[in-house]
Amino acid sequence: GEERKLDFVRQIVADDLKTGKWNGAVCTRFPPEPNGYLHIGHAKSINLNYGIAAEFGGKFNLRFDDTNPEKEEQEYVDSIIADVRWLGADWEDRLFYGSDYFQQMYEWAVELVKKGKAYVCDLTAEETREYRGTLTRPGKDSPYRSRSVEENLDLFERMAKGEFPDGSKTLRARIDMAHPNLNMRDPIMYRIVHERHHRQGDRWCIYPMYDWAHGFEDSIEGITHSICTLEFENHRPLYDWFIDAVNEGRTDDGSGPWGRKIHHPQQIEFARLNLTYTVMSKRKLLRLVKERLVRGWDDPRMPTICGMRRRGFSPEAIRNFCKLIGVNKFNSTVEIALLEHCLREDLNKTSARVMAVLRPLKVVIDNYPADQVEELEAINNPEDPSAGTRKVPFSRELYIEREDFMEEPPKKFFRLAPGREVRLRYAYFITCTSVVKDAEGNVVELHCTYDPATRGGDAPDGRKVKATLHWVSARHARKAEVRLYDNLFTQENPDDVEEGQDFTASLNPESLEILSDCYVEPALAEAKTLDRFQFERLGYFCVDPDSTSEMPVFNRTVGLRDTWAR
Ligand code: ATP
Ligand code: MG
Ligand code: MG
Repeated sequence: GEERKLDFVRQIVADDLKTGKWNGAVCTRFPPEPNGYLHIGHAKSINLNYGIAAEFGGKFNLRFDDTNPEKEEQEYVDSIIADVRWLGADWEDRLFYGSDYFQQMYEWAVELVKKGKAYVCDLTAEETREYRGTLTRPGKDSPYRSRSVEENLDLFERMAKGEFPDGSKTLRARIDMAHPNLNMRDPIMYRIVHERHHRQGDRWCIYPMYDWAHGFEDSIEGITHSICTLEFENHRPLYDWFIDAVNEGRTDDGSGPWGRKIHHPQQIEFARLNLTYTVMSKRKLLRLVKERLVRGWDDPRMPTICGMRRRGFSPEAIRNFCKLIGVNKFNSTVEIALLEHCLREDLNKTSARVMAVLRPLKVVIDNYPADQVEELEAINNPEDPSAGTRKVPFSRELYIEREDFMEEPPKKFFRLAPGREVRLRYAYFITCTSVVKDAEGNVVELHCTYDPATRGGDAPDGRKVKATLHWVSARHARKAEVRLYDNLFTQENPDDVEEGQDFTASLNPESLEILSDCYVEPALAEAKTLDRFQFERLGYFCVDPDSTSEMPVFNRTVGLRDTWAR
């Protein structure tokens, strides 16, 4: 096979296996905070973490980093589980919750207090910020920094018992208020929040900060390679400091007062995914939902996994996209055209072709018997012979696409026009003989004749036509609603807005167009929610969950023309 160069994360894993750094173990995790729905950026992380575990014979954990009760909800937990599963990452029996480790983390915090490495601080949030300093100005020590171990132990215990109001005290690490890395200036480990936790209930009223909690979640689970995005690069010293602080005085064999050393994973940072014409932060996506700028988290225009699923994406298309973009150390923005390219490649191979007319124009074939119906054979998928064929009914009255006819065609228009002959896909050659107009002069119906000798689409005398049109039989077709989507934003970078405006100013007012007078061939009566099709000549479509038995609804997943420039 073709040897592909490993990306830098996989190279680290391969090297570690070679040197025996982790005794042959590989354990990765995907650690979402359940404060929103997953998006395509998360898929990159899932594919990376799960892919590494699968390729190197390791383990993959799904872990909820559920340490902030203010923003987290069970609804998000449930959606994340469904989305990770749909993407094809298998955590087997390793589903974990960071909040289940709160007791252990609390004990380690007490240990740091006893070691003189943490203290209870009474500064307000604003004072804490002020004391922290800036990149050019060193911080100032908190007046509470020199509290005794006994006083700190007492106060921290009472914080945990609920004796103090929200925001009145924090537990902080005693590191260095002049450290060049601001994250190291006595970071907060715990804050007081009297709020019900979606999983732990009212058991806790102190909650750990991300930096304090995350490394321990990794450590407890035996994660070897803790893969995160680049913003966490300058949190890594703190990640290491906290684990080292617990390990100080501990030994490999557990002898001594503090016991056995805890596992110290390696944090590795990679570049997050950014896409053109897309916002990718949960905070912004939440705003779109809350302000009803979209129809919900699963609106097919959203870059969420559930939105993309509803739009008609397959997990394979997303996986192939992740493979193609690879993994590196520099932030960049990927063109949405590349994502759509991967989508088309997959849908082209897998989706059944059908005929549908989105903007119908009635055609009457005057020389075709009024009561006759023929069943014509149509190929389901030219890319997949095993998909077979189906029967499509043909009769005297049809619908064709309105834009496939012009009364006064310009030079380069080769489709139907008065006096001109075209092919109807799988059926016959027809010639337009006359046009019916309404009072305003709009064309509302065409009269045509057909040539019975051209059945199947070829003329025995060898004459050619320049166009092949799709069509449906008016009597047999099913009425349908079709939703056409465009980018949700008009700007490549949605944040590129005038001063005083935010990303919502670049929302595309034409990102959704609803067509409610469409006709699809009768075979689609059997289609189930999320089934995917290619509507011939129009694009890829899938069945929306809003469909009813009276009115099926289709989403246009993506058009046919590939705009990805290689
Ligand atoms: P957001 O910034 O969109 O709110 P987050 O990073 O806060 O996302 P988490 O739930 O904390 O969301 O993320 C879970 C994992 O997914 C983290 O390891 C994070 O690094 C990764 N991740 C989040 N966004 C992206 C992205 N755009 N590209 C790659 N990985 C991402
Ligand atoms: Mg987060
Ligand atoms: Mg974030």
